[in-house]
Parts: sequence; C-alpha cells; structure tokens
Amino acid sequence: MFEVIQISAFKDNYIWLLRMGGAATVVDPGDARPVLDVLDGKGWSLDTILITHHHADHQGGVADLLSRFPATVLGPASESIHGIGVPLRGGETVSVAALDTRFQVIAVPGHTLGHVAYYGAGCLFCGDTLFGAGCGRLFEGTAAQMADSLARLAALPDDTAVYCAHEYTEANLRFALAVEPGNAAVRQRAEQVSERRAKGLATIPSTIAIEKMSNPFLRCREPEVVATVRRREPAAKDEEAVFAALRGWKDSF
Ligand code: ZN
Ligand code: FE
Repeated sequence: MFEVIQISAFKDNYIWLLRMGGAATVVDPGDARPVLDVLDGKGWSLDTILITHHHADHQGGVADLLSRFPATVLGPASESIHGIGVPLRGGETVSVAALDTRFQVIAVPGHTLGHVAYYGAGCLFCGDTLFGAGCGRLFEGTAAQMADSLARLAALPDDTAVYCAHEYTEANLRFALAVEPGNAAVRQRAEQVSERRAKGLATIPSTIAIEKMSNPFLRCREPEVVATVRRREPAAKDEEAVFAALRGWKDSF
C-alpha cells in the first residue's frame, strides 16, 4: 500500500501525493512548487499525475512538473488537460505500476462535464465532486447529473477514505446544521472539525460512512432534509428536486 501525503496549495486546496518507495504520483497538482519541494526534499521522483477535471487549481502545475519529470498524465478525455497521455471517460481501470495499484475511474459529471474520480486501495480521489459534508458547485453539469455522480460515490464501501481537493468541511457543516438541526452526527462532526481547524489540522480524509451520516447532499431522502427544503421550496417534490433546491440554497448560504 502507498503512503498518502497531504500537500496544501493556494488558500484551501489539497494536492495528494501517493508514494511507494522512491516513486510518487500526485493528484490534481494545481501548483508545482509545493509538490517539487516535497519531491526534492525527499529525493523522490514523479511517475504519474492524476487529474480529476480541467480547472486551473487542479492542473496548473502540470507543465512545470513535466519539465522536471517524464510523468504520465491521466485525466478526462473531454476536457482540456495539459500534457494528457491517457485520456479517460470513466468506466476504465488504470494500473499505476509504481504504486502497485489499480484505480477504477468513475465518471462524475456535475461540477464539470468530464470530471472523473479515482478509486483504488480503499481510497477515493474525488476532486471537486464530493467534499467533506458538501459537494462541488454546478459549473457545467445539471443537478441531476451531480446527484447521480454522488450516488455512485456513496455506493463505495463505507470505510473508503475520501480525499477531496479542498478544505471546505467547516463551512459545509454550518450549512448541514441549517439543513438538519436534529442530526446528532452533524453536530458531533461540526465540533470535531472546529477543534481540528482551530489547531490548523486537516479534516480530510473522511470516509464514505461519515459522509453518508452527515453530508446533506447524500441525504436528500431523509425526512428532516426533505422537510427543511420544502419549507423553502414547496415545489421540490422528488429526491432530485430536493437535491437541486439544496444545491441552489448552498450557493447563496
Ligand atoms: Zn473545480
Ligand atoms: Fe477546485
């Protein structure tokens, strides 16, 4: 099994570095500098770059990394990804030999249309699709697409470690509390997360089990979620409409 190292970038991005022996893979390197600092500091080389979607804070460092290392870039086929060598649509299984790991590529349209997630060795790298207690904004896809994508991720094993690309959990839990004030799991997680953030610690990875208990976007069938949403939008009749109303509310929360 590889080691997962958290690299902070920009204001609240995480670049995940997966390392086995002296070979590293990075997920969504929006910035090369902090990645090169780790690689050079440890004397590791970069073998593979996994990209979840085209936004600059997820691929902006690829060119500089490729100028230092002949790494293979995997990413969504339908998006403009710098240096892409292995275009993906979702549904593939890709082998990263240097990590001795096979990743399932999962299509998760919604935040962007080509967005993919990588699942392997009990770890999920989901970019800006599933966040700690939240989900990505709908920049390109529809609410229905995002709800389907999240359902696919929620169907992974409960103990899957969820590595998303931003530290948004604390603010997301404030929203989750407004949606489900009666959910003890949300209250408990909000306390734990506030304590960690006060110490400057990451709240990622979480697990699929934690997200299913406390992430309102995975809970659009729960009576309290439905009731809260319908007080704001009485026309939200089915699960998909509840999800769309919730996502719309969060955009202005
Ligand atoms: Zn994004
Ligand atoms: Fe992002």
